[in-house]
Amino acid sequence: SSDKSVLSIQSHVTHGYVGNKAATFPLQLHGFDVDAINTVSLSNHSGYPVIKGHRMDLTEFTTLLDGLRANDFLSDYAYVLTGYINNADIIRHVAATVAEVREKRQQQGKKDIVFFCDPVMGDDGRLYCKEEVVAAYRELVAHANIATPNYFEASILSTVEVKDLMSAIEAANWFHEQGTPTVVIKSFTMPDDPTHLRFLLSCHDKVTGSTKRYTGVVQYYEGRYTGTGDVFAASLVAFAHNHPIDLAVGKAMGVLQDLIKATVERGGSGKATLNSRELRVTSDPDRLLHPSTVISVTPLP
Ligand code: ATP
Repeated sequence: SSDKSVLSIQSHVTHGYVGNKAATFPLQLHGFDVDAINTVSLSNHSGYPVIKGHRMDLTEFTTLLDGLRANDFLSDYAYVLTGYINNADIIRHVAATVAEVREKRQQQGKKDIVFFCDPVMGDDGRLYCKEEVVAAYRELVAHANIATPNYFEASILSTVEVKDLMSAIEAANWFHEQGTPTVVIKSFTMPDDPTHLRFLLSCHDKVTGSTKRYTGVVQYYEGRYTGTGDVFAASLVAFAHNHPIDLAVGKAMGVLQDLIKATVERGGSGKATLNSRELRVTSDPDRLLHPSTVISVTPLP
């Protein structure tokens, strides 16, 4: 077993690129073993008019964990990454799973587990989960090393409406108060510049009580793309394995810029069909490893 192994708890779709379908390929390219738990197994993402398939319940989740535990695989996971779950029972159980992996690794003298939590709940003012899921994430983020909410998820969880850098900092502070040391609010619009999106990286040191914050901007591509957050979180896991977190964020942001550009160039511009806006995750594997630009992530005073 290597230290490049991830337990990735996310959705599976037959068609398209969201959840584990979006996260697994980039992580594998980086040389990670990806053990996927598919929280749902659906025909496609929920933006399409028809969606068919199956959603996991807690018993199915714990049954898979029973198998992993019985074969002694749990201590192999250096990382746990969670994305779309949309089941409050499973979200609550993830804390116990992370604690179990942490304890087993400690007993075996292995490096501590790093838990990346993407609290997937909705986007652009629309919640696509139940209210009890929000409550479950408010508790789960306390166990995360790194949380990667979009601006809407950060707003819902913290009750601070994220609309600029100041409010993003306030929302990130809420995560720190819950116990999440590192928070990336992946994008929010800039009141004075509609052609770019800003992001915030906020790192809180529990020992000294100090918080180091960074920000940066990316070009805004008109239109909505699904799976962007999932590729971002997966890329962040991979880059943060070898790089300091600010550089890892800059590289992961660069990957998304290349990926959206590639999608637009292949007909998936803002006004195109949903299907043509599926992220072209497999179109240029080298760009997933080496983005054409690394976005600057600048410390805030
Ligand atoms: P979640 O998984 O939390 O639901 P999300 O996909 O809603 O995530 P976003 O902040 O919208 O999260 O997107 C993640 C990243 O993808 C952003 O940090 C940004 O780099 C990039 N991105 C997404 N949409 C666009 C866009 N229209 N133009 C440019 N970059 C974008």
